[in-house]
Amino acid sequence: MFKQARIKLTVWYLAIIMGVSLSFSGVIFVGVNRELTRLEDFQKTRIQGIIRGFPIQVNIPPGPDTDAINEARLRIITTLGFINVSILILAGLGGYFLAGQTLDPIKKMVDDQKEFVSNASHELRTPLTSLMTEIEVTLRDKHLQLPEAKRMLASNLEEVKKMNNLSNYLLKLNKLEHSTATAFKKVDLKKVILTAIAKVTPLAKASKVKLTTKLTATTITGNEDLLTELVTILVDNAVKYSKRGGSVNVSLIKSSLNIVDHGIGISSRDLPHIFDRFYRADYSRSKEHMEGYGLGLAIAKSIVDLHHATISVTSKVDKGTTFTVIF
Ligand code: ADP
Repeated sequence: MFKQARIKLTVWYLAIIMGVSLSFSGVIFVGVNRELTRLEDFQKTRIQGIIRGFPIQVNIPPGPDTDAINEARLRIITTLGFINVSILILAGLGGYFLAGQTLDPIKKMVDDQKEFVSNASHELRTPLTSLMTEIEVTLRDKHLQLPEAKRMLASNLEEVKKMNNLSNYLLKLNKLEHSTATAFKKVDLKKVILTAIAKVTPLAKASKVKLTTKLTATTITGNEDLLTELVTILVDNAVKYSKRGGSVNVSLIKSSLNIVDHGIGISSRDLPHIFDRFYRADYSRSKEHMEGYGLGLAIAKSIVDLHHATISVTSKVDKGTTFTVIF
């Protein structure tokens, strides 16, 4: 599809350039030709004048050099033709290159979109298949008892919740990618962090992870809900990927937010991809209890970008990870 579009675009570039070039050549040729004709006429008139004025003139100058003038015309046509063919070749090559450059970002965007849709469908298919299988098996059971039916419904509800979470994530990501920084206000970052920590505390308690903070009062311009979401994602990950009994420290010094954990860490192979949509390191996929879709950090990155902030990460496998956001 893109090859065809590239060729079409090249043809359009060529048509425009050749249109301009041929028009100029036409104008140049008409101008030069008019001059040559005038010269020819002038010579003719002069010769006639000389003949009329001096009928017995002996040294009549030779007649207008029509051959030389025609030759000059031919040479101009050849030169203009050569220039136009050169422009055709150069513009063809240049146009093909430029068409590629123009279409490349669009191609990348379409490829990204395709990958996104395929990943999203894949993530939705797993809970859907499990839901379908459970319902089918239960319906085939002729002696189904109420407690069993309830158990199945509870399990179904879990799968439905997962799908609901995924669609919420997808909607949020889509909304963020089309948001602008218009509804920004002064935000107390310390308060935002405390709210996020309160949200993650139940998980931290359940996995016996100690949460510590060192926060200085800082105010920035931004969206409070989105900033709470950002800190929640980062602290939630820090707790989720900590070892049982580990610790997570959240510090805010001026406009630099650091979230340090001493958990499983991220390998250098995974590190460049963790902000990609749906990216999960292999251990996160294989371990059932580490729920997630690999969308949290993509959302975090979109929020950071929206606030014109920066996010960076350093990590060592089995030693821990530090996320730094600078506002
Ligand atoms: P997920 O829902 O899988 O947590 P994220 O987008 O939040 O998705 O994170 C992407 C991946 O980055 C995770 O699957 C995990 O492999 C890795 N990751 C993120 N935060 C941490 C962390 N603090 N420690 C170790 N690995 C992490």
